[in-house]
Amino acid sequence: DYSKPFHNSPGTDWSLRRNAHWIDEKINSLKAVKQDIIPLKIGRDTIITGNLGKGMDPSRNVQIYQYSLADAHHVQKSLDIAEKAQPVWEARSIEERSKIVKDVAIEIEKCRGASIATMAMDAGKAAAESDAEVSEAVDFANYYADSLSWDGMLDGSEFKALGIVVITPPWNFPFAIPCGGILASLMAGNAVIIKPAPESVLTAWVMAKQLWDAGVPRDVLQFLPCPDDEVGQSLVSSDRVGAVVLTGAYETGRMFQGWKPDMRLYAETSGKNSLIITNAADPDQAVKDLVRGSFGHSGQKCSASSLAIIEADVYDNPAFMRQLKDAVESLTVGQSWEPSSIVTPLMIKPEASLERALTSLDEGEKWLVEPTMLENNPQLWSPGVKLGVKRGSWFHKTECFGPVLGLIRADDLRDAMAIQNDSDFGLTGGIHTLDDREIRVWREQVEVGNAYINRPITGAIVQRQPFGGWKKSCFGPGAKAGGPNYVSIFATWEQVEMPM
Ligand code: GLU
Repeated sequence: DYSKPFHNSPGTDWSLRRNAHWIDEKINSLKAVKQDIIPLKIGRDTIITGNLGKGMDPSRNVQIYQYSLADAHHVQKSLDIAEKAQPVWEARSIEERSKIVKDVAIEIEKCRGASIATMAMDAGKAAAESDAEVSEAVDFANYYADSLSWDGMLDGSEFKALGIVVITPPWNFPFAIPCGGILASLMAGNAVIIKPAPESVLTAWVMAKQLWDAGVPRDVLQFLPCPDDEVGQSLVSSDRVGAVVLTGAYETGRMFQGWKPDMRLYAETSGKNSLIITNAADPDQAVKDLVRGSFGHSGQKCSASSLAIIEADVYDNPAFMRQLKDAVESLTVGQSWEPSSIVTPLMIKPEASLERALTSLDEGEKWLVEPTMLENNPQLWSPGVKLGVKRGSWFHKTECFGPVLGLIRADDLRDAMAIQNDSDFGLTGGIHTLDDREIRVWREQVEVGNAYINRPITGAIVQRQPFGGWKKSCFGPGAKAGGPNYVSIFATWEQVEMPM
């Protein structure tokens, strides 16, 4: 409902020196403490298991903590507890649940500095990137807390929760994405089990503690890192689970479906996103937004612009290419805890597709900016830009998930749109043009979930740009996170006929 005012959490002003100091201090104090082993939380029980996973700091490639991994017995125990707790939680009024979720927003806001520091260490995130995650989590809480009344479904009788929801979040947005899934599920009256991404368990733990501290009952939100073997599978594919929320690779979504074909799966999966720049674009703005969307968090976003499809006159203009090259070369590459860093270390060793994108060129391609490995660390790369990417080529079609951008030359807007839509995926996409007619044509024809005009194609804002894809970027009904009806996909509900 866009008629009601909604206030997004503004985030931190990094131009103020004291804010950079504030985070510096938080990071230093976090570095100074030795982390306890992260336990499982099953109901009221805190369980350290014999099977421990390693929590790595990707910037230095060193282990900074350990976390407990569940076994098959823990999974069943946790499902037992969730089954018991869920009806009690659902029986609470929507107002009560909404109050708790609003308290979550307050708690997350209060812990902003600690969360940013945690993500610098655990998730390789630069402060500005983690700051945006914290703001998004606050926004999810405030938005979902009110969304049932906005959707006109305050009468609980027409609304039935799904039961237990399992959340399997990604490592690239380890705070906001699981937090959003949890809170939407809770608002609809479900019990939730979170199985954090193995690469960023500490961040998920810090987030879960904030939710419990704000009043989310411990049997209603349980914390269960599982190995990605039959134990994880037994949780995700359990018949006792009402829905599974996944953000990750398309192949993972297919794997989940293979385990249980009738699973209710809500997944946001993979993208190969592009930004069109036409002859009518403002080149300064286009370069700035392209660079931000391509290299923020080192391109490790499902939403990142991995391709720019550029109309011939701009593509052939040496001044434009020079400007883009300068902008990319001026990005600071460095550790996530250094305030100036934009391009931070990759969270995982490059997979084969990223390795290929970073180190080789296909026929007709040339480097505008060649990426290089720094400090002999296979996870630290300067950003790269490929010229001359051909339509239909490997790079046009393949998600690489890292700091590489490819440029494709298009004859005109129609040609550019054909190239943009020629994709198996459809998560985000954008256009830069100051021509209203071009905007109109593009809006009607672009095949993406999030279509952005004259802005970067990353960084969806709750309520203004509900986030989600189509084509192979989405499993499920396609309701978007941070938008209308998202909470209601976690329930079954019938519209009750109103007496005339
Ligand atoms: N919501 C994020 C954005 O708009 C992307 C999330 C993702 O990478 O999965 O940039």
